[in-house]
Amino acid sequence: MPNRDYTVRQLLEMEACTNCQICADVCPAVSASQLGELSAIFRMRGLKQILKSRIGLFHKIFARKGPSEKQWRHFSDTVFHCTLCGNCQEVCPVGIQLKDLWVSLRQDLVHSDFYPNKVELIRDNLEESHNVFAEDNEERADWVEDLRDAPDHGYLKDQAEVVYFTGCVAAYFPLAQKIPMALAEIMEKSGVDFTLLGEEEWCCGFPLLGAGLKEMLQELIDHNMSAVREKGAKKIVFACPSCYQVWREYYPHEFEITHATQLLMNLISENRMPLKELPLTVTYHDPCDLGRGARVFDEPREVLCSIPGVKLLELPRSRENCQCCGGGGNLEMIDPNLSAEIAKQKIDEVIGTGAQAVITSCQQCVRTMTATVRRNKVPLEVMDITQLVRRALKDS
Ligand code: SF4
Ligand code: SF4
Repeated sequence: MPNRDYTVRQLLEMEACTNCQICADVCPAVSASQLGELSAIFRMRGLKQILKSRIGLFHKIFARKGPSEKQWRHFSDTVFHCTLCGNCQEVCPVGIQLKDLWVSLRQDLVHSDFYPNKVELIRDNLEESHNVFAEDNEERADWVEDLRDAPDHGYLKDQAEVVYFTGCVAAYFPLAQKIPMALAEIMEKSGVDFTLLGEEEWCCGFPLLGAGLKEMLQELIDHNMSAVREKGAKKIVFACPSCYQVWREYYPHEFEITHATQLLMNLISENRMPLKELPLTVTYHDPCDLGRGARVFDEPREVLCSIPGVKLLELPRSRENCQCCGGGGNLEMIDPNLSAEIAKQKIDEVIGTGAQAVITSCQQCVRTMTATVRRNKVPLEVMDITQLVRRALKDS
């Protein structure tokens, strides 16, 4: 098997690794499991060994010394226990693009037939249902029926200026559905002309990257692009950082794309969203894909500080150093216990701030942190920023 899943740049970057281990110090999977083999440095060493065993003279002379099947399986297991949070990349002193490398490595493992069963589930669900949970895609916008004053068109207009791309988690999980409900009400009250895509919204493709199935992305891209074009929209808004991130990085740049936090900030600065007093001490958790991924750090903080009465306390690790909540990289599907342990570490850090509520800008962070708070009976509110703003809206 040639090393075709890696770019020349990636192959060169790997050689720059100095074995400094700084990446291991910030890894949430390592700190929650106490297993050094889940770290970036361990993975880098294993990957180099695999790559070398496939090429040139080394291959001809030492081919038998490549990893055994058992070693392959174990290595693959460690690779899929990463949340793809990108914290290792953030601190790597030689600037290796580690997150992209982990995505390429997962693709390599799929091509090499060493991958977890859940990968097949993700592939089958997306092929058959166009969403990651094998739900009926016609029910994507069913949450609209739970709105207090849902309009007759149910936000499924023929044409609109803005498309609101909800994403799979927010469309189907009852806890996460509160986010599109809040954002729809905010946009309605602020006079934003928006529509949903309904059943014509297919998964953005983000789970494919984590599953090592990047090659399946194009079909989803083509479909979603034409669905947005049909609406005549110029702009797409996302409350999901992973949808936003994948549209930024992999979709053609035909439309203006914006995250909900950026939209909220603009609506506040244009005075289209009068806010009432809401006395609450909060801290803010930067979702990995929105913060480290898309570098959106200031807008959510500006929104929070615009709500009269809200006091923001920063986490010890915030902005580009914010610790993952445990919900990324498909880890929740692969190892729910490790995902929960990472979330517990996160909540311990939040409790240390003394905040009454932790606010984030991601449905998956809300889910993982809420589950931990409920399981451990912690007196802490977990909310998406859209929910907090919805609560602060005047006349609500
Ligand atoms: S992406 Fe995050 S979880 Fe994965 S190795 Fe890097 S720091 Fe660890
Ligand atoms: S931080 Fe970068 S250079 Fe240091 S061990 Fe990790 S990958 Fe290698």
